[in-house]
Amino acid sequence: MNERHLLAEADRRALAYFDATAERRVFPDAAAIAALSAFDRALPDNGTAAEQVLRELDEIGSPATVASNGPRYFGFVIGATLPAAAAAERLVLAWDQCASSFDNSPVADRLEKVAGRWVCQALGLPTDSAVGFGTSATACTLACLSAARRKLLARQGWDFDADGLVGAPEIRVVLSETAHITVKKALRVLGFGMNRLHYAPVDEHGRIDPARLPALDERTLLILQAGEVNTGEFDRFAELIPRARAAGAWVHVDGAFGLWARASSSAHLAEGVELADSWTSDGHKWLNTPYDSAMAICRDADALAAAMNSDAAYASASRDAQKNLTLEFSRRARGVAIWAALASLGRDGLREMIDRHIRQAFELAEALREGGYRVLNRVVLNQVLVRADSDEQTIAIREAAQASGEVWFGPTVWQGRPAFRLSLSSWRTTDEDVRALAELLLRLKRQI
Ligand SMILES: *Cc1c(COP(=O)(O)O)cnc(C)c1O
Repeated sequence: MNERHLLAEADRRALAYFDATAERRVFPDAAAIAALSAFDRALPDNGTAAEQVLRELDEIGSPATVASNGPRYFGFVIGATLPAAAAAERLVLAWDQCASSFDNSPVADRLEKVAGRWVCQALGLPTDSAVGFGTSATACTLACLSAARRKLLARQGWDFDADGLVGAPEIRVVLSETAHITVKKALRVLGFGMNRLHYAPVDEHGRIDPARLPALDERTLLILQAGEVNTGEFDRFAELIPRARAAGAWVHVDGAFGLWARASSSAHLAEGVELADSWTSDGHKWLNTPYDSAMAICRDADALAAAMNSDAAYASASRDAQKNLTLEFSRRARGVAIWAALASLGRDGLREMIDRHIRQAFELAEALREGGYRVLNRVVLNQVLVRADSDEQTIAIREAAQASGEVWFGPTVWQGRPAFRLSLSSWRTTDEDVRALAELLLRLKRQI
């Protein structure tokens, strides 16, 4: 089979997979998972025909996928992939660009600059911010926090690039008690010891309580949240950020999914978030782009460009080249799918999608309450946090729902006890899908 035929065969198989989305179990069954053992063999000495490689991948691999690109996946704020973004991704694969700078790919350089500006416009953030397109909110948080530390140290007269951390003034990190684990990971990797972090106590909604905020000064890095991972709640930016900036602190906002509320009719939830110094958000969650799609946004464009600079004698580029804004040197043009998603939705389409998910979350919460469940959060965004009558029943219902193959959502712990978390974030999820989820949960509650 020549290359053209092989690619056509891959497209044919991908379309067959796509066509079967509605019938597919949301989480694969035990037989499909057991069949994966066929992949467990030694690295072959001799190659296999590419069409055979593709067939094996499809026949053994496809049945063991999770249908997170389908309408009834309610776990982890995962989102599906918008048609325009999926189609753009296929073209980008054909282009095979190394999107590090203009010299490597003029088209990627231009599209990612436009995408960066559009992201800032959609989120209501300063449009002259630097926008680095990284693999994940985790990687982008790491990039932003390293820019923050470097800048805070520079203000103390310390040259971080030359002298590193030994003997440097200590940067005080203040973060929410409910900060996402990946924010702590970024801090740990950057060498902020876990015992040295200052946790800000939260209220019953998981938001930092302004009255109990630890002291802030010009050596403080304050990390806030737009979208607490369980409740979907927002820290009170309009109150906290001016206080922090007046003290000379740097404010970073983890907005992996919640920052997209800024593009909706519920933008007021994140009022004042635009006053921060840096932000991270994901494309692969609520914007519904393919994976490996996130952004590091930094008000002081030079601060991010300096912290992430990777110019070399053989590869120098402008300070706003992607290789100087992200962790990667060689990288794919992941901003193109973000550009395509925003181009296809427009402001109206984006608002409509986010508004729909928020409305669906309200309606789901209402149906579950009527069916005897306890909804633990007040539901301001797209997250519904749920408990049944007892911990045992909560866990058993979640496991039965997962085993059904009809839907999937994950467990969580809220205020020390098991719960489950339902996220509305796929563009494919219709009101009918939400009703089906509620019906399944009510049926399981009667049975268990
Ligand atoms: C998912 C998530 C992250 C991590 O994002 P990745 O893109 O998976 O690295 C960070 N913070 C919050 C609030 C999240 O929901």
